[in-house]
Amino acid sequence: MPQPITDIYLPRQAKVEQIEVENSLISTFVLAFSDRQYNDAFHYQPGQFMMVSMPHYGEAPISISSTPTRPGAIHLSVRRAGKLTNAMHGLQVGDTIDLRGPYGRPFPMEQLQGQDLLFVAGGIGLAPLRAVINGCLDQRDRFGTLTVLYGSRTPSDIAFQSDLGLWQKQGVDCHLTVDAAEPGWDGAVGLVTSLMDDLTPELSRSTALVCGPPMMFRAVLGKLASMGFSDEQVLTTMERHMKCGVGICRHCHMDGKLACVDGPVFSLAELRKLKIMELES
Ligand SMILES: Cc1cc2nc3c(=O)[nH]c(=O)nc-3n(C[C@H](O)[C@H](O)[C@H](O)COP(=O)(O)OP(=O)(O)OC[C@H]3O[C@@H](n4cnc5c(N)ncnc54)[C@H](O)[C@@H]3O)c2cc1C
Repeated sequence: MPQPITDIYLPRQAKVEQIEVENSLISTFVLAFSDRQYNDAFHYQPGQFMMVSMPHYGEAPISISSTPTRPGAIHLSVRRAGKLTNAMHGLQVGDTIDLRGPYGRPFPMEQLQGQDLLFVAGGIGLAPLRAVINGCLDQRDRFGTLTVLYGSRTPSDIAFQSDLGLWQKQGVDCHLTVDAAEPGWDGAVGLVTSLMDDLTPELSRSTALVCGPPMMFRAVLGKLASMGFSDEQVLTTMERHMKCGVGICRHCHMDGKLACVDGPVFSLAELRKLKIMELES
């Protein structure tokens, strides 16, 4: 008998159906639960994460990078960082891993309806935003303009290239920049904040969704403030080391809040009330 769908604490086996190599460090794994009935009923929201595990290699939180508007498969975009993520990069189509979740507070998709959305990401930070962007594209008339600013170290590090190409074709205003050019690159060079200079957002109906490494995050927040975005108009997802993912172990404690259950999605207004390294100058 399949387990009840409400039992979210139990790891379940999922099969790797497809692997999309994004760059030398990041791959997107397309997964489906081996229990087809469970897979068909599985539901999540953009911004939530799964606790992913492999025997001998441990467990780690990974954002769901697919959108629930395209049911049937879960996408996890994974950057090689340590024990588990390196082992995941050795997986082949047909192999299995264990998943529990979904966990965490998602992006407030209903609140975002009618808004112009500005996505600013660096590196693997585009993974959780991909879920939102594809969700918006699947319900296009519910959202205003979509703009994506994406920064990578070098042109060879640009991940999610097929998504970026598709988004551009579907009317998303996508801009890329790299920290350092390589031969053949004629695009922008510089921090992702340099892409923000030409933007003229309609502030009364705009929200920025920001996700990337701490240095980029701080610079982007400064730029958004100078453009007139209020702290309530900026959303992000917080990365913290997590063990349980469900508010028990307190590894992801952030000055009174837990990234796993109070987040990982927070508004900047909520984060300003906490003492966290990302906001220290
Ligand atoms: C909500 C959330 C969503 C995430 N989404 C994604 C995603 O979509 N894609 C993705 O690639 N990554 C994501 N991450 C990050 C990912 O969970 C980490 O990189 C994770 O540590 C990888 O596990 P690992 O076993 O491969 O690496 P680890 O073996 O855990 O090592 C990773 C790094 O962390 C250090 N480290 C390990 N344990 C600790 C500790 N207790 N305290 C301090 N440092 C430690 C190690 O030295 C190493 O530098 C997310 C994290 C969170 C919290």
